[in-house]
Amino acid sequence: DAYLAAIEAGNDKLNAYVAITADAARSMARASDARIAQGEAGPLEGVPLGIKDLFATKGVHTQAASHILDGFKPEYESTVTANLWRDGAVMLGKLNMDEFAMGSSNETSYYGPVVNPWRGEGSSKALVAGGSSGGSAAAVAAWMCAGATATDTGGSIRQPAAFTGTVGIKPTYGRCSRWGVVAYASSLDQAGSIARSVEDSALMLASMSGFDAKDSTSADLAVPDFAAAVERGVKGLVIGVPREYRMDGMPAEIETLWQQGLEWLKAEGATIRDISLPHTKYALPAYYVVSPAEASSNLARYDGVRYGLRVTGKDITDMYELTRAEGFGREVKRRVMIGTYVLSAGYYDAYYVRAQKVRTLIKRDFEEAFNAGVDAILTPATPSAAFGVADQDMAADPVKMYLNDVFTVTVNMAGLPGIGVPAGKDAQGLPLGLQLIGKPFDEETLFAAGRVIE
Ligand code: GLN
Repeated sequence: DAYLAAIEAGNDKLNAYVAITADAARSMARASDARIAQGEAGPLEGVPLGIKDLFATKGVHTQAASHILDGFKPEYESTVTANLWRDGAVMLGKLNMDEFAMGSSNETSYYGPVVNPWRGEGSSKALVAGGSSGGSAAAVAAWMCAGATATDTGGSIRQPAAFTGTVGIKPTYGRCSRWGVVAYASSLDQAGSIARSVEDSALMLASMSGFDAKDSTSADLAVPDFAAAVERGVKGLVIGVPREYRMDGMPAEIETLWQQGLEWLKAEGATIRDISLPHTKYALPAYYVVSPAEASSNLARYDGVRYGLRVTGKDITDMYELTRAEGFGREVKRRVMIGTYVLSAGYYDAYYVRAQKVRTLIKRDFEEAFNAGVDAILTPATPSAAFGVADQDMAADPVKMYLNDVFTVTVNMAGLPGIGVPAGKDAQGLPLGLQLIGKPFDEETLFAAGRVIE
């Protein structure tokens, strides 16, 4: 009731929820009470969560914040949310996001932008909550849920977490099932959580994770006791500092924050080592070839026949065209056009194949660092604190918006786990985050090191 009241009081301002499932929340909570009374409480019994609108929830609003999925209510539940309900969690509603998870500011949503609960000191300017999981991050930061599911294809968990002072974990590709998660770029998409602490984030991820025969890329591995890893400490760990992440023009406050993070880890017994990830500078351009390519293919299914919106025309081709023209927003159309172009026969080798080769090189850079004894890598999470809603520069130049993902996309390209943890504030008092990158399926080290920094 307290969380539902917070949503009622705050959602008009923040626009974090696109659907509030109060009745379902109350009946799930009553079922939790009954299980607690019988001594059968699950690990997340009664914990009220928000669910990103990208996860299929049976009979409940699932539109990926797109007009083209108007009225779509799935017949089935995603594996990740089913796992959470199995463990006793309670659903409060569906959370706003960038349309089809394409964006870094939650401004491409059909439902309008999410507003960050944080403001700069003495400023009334509305700031973005980051994207694409902006609704998840804002709702957690504003106490409108205890934790939220989110997804990360190129930074969409870690960047909004950094902008809102929350903890965001993107686990190793394959850790969480993608079954029932609306696809953006299937080889990069991964579910994870946004929470208020590293411990909460470990508890949530443990519940969400696990092998699922319904996702062919799901990893058949036991889920470690993530919560037990949180207080493990960093004594004896080697933390890598990649020199290529020291970008030209990086604000001094980000540099200072990064140094501070390294000092904290050192004080707890970690060794700091300079490393090189030489192909870093190619990650962003390669990501913005691979992800639109996969998106253009995945989004071909929205044709007015199967799901959501249908705009009738004089014949079926006309209906397809009118539906897609009206149903997709500008950014989604841009991605579909870029993706179709890079996959077309004449350009396939020059763009798509080349981007896939770059991806292999990026993966190898990380492998070399880890093989040489590095346990985890520390970097900034974002190049700046949260920026203003309707920022003119970003609106005028999509590449400026894409630059937000410069520190986060490498992790998705290599399929590695990454965690964003709040680490400090900028001069205006806005939250800033650091990112830890881990070895495949070693989320435990990220929780341990993240706990030292948060
Ligand atoms: N900002 C990136 C994009 O627009 C990442 C999105 C994501 O991780 N879903 O593609």
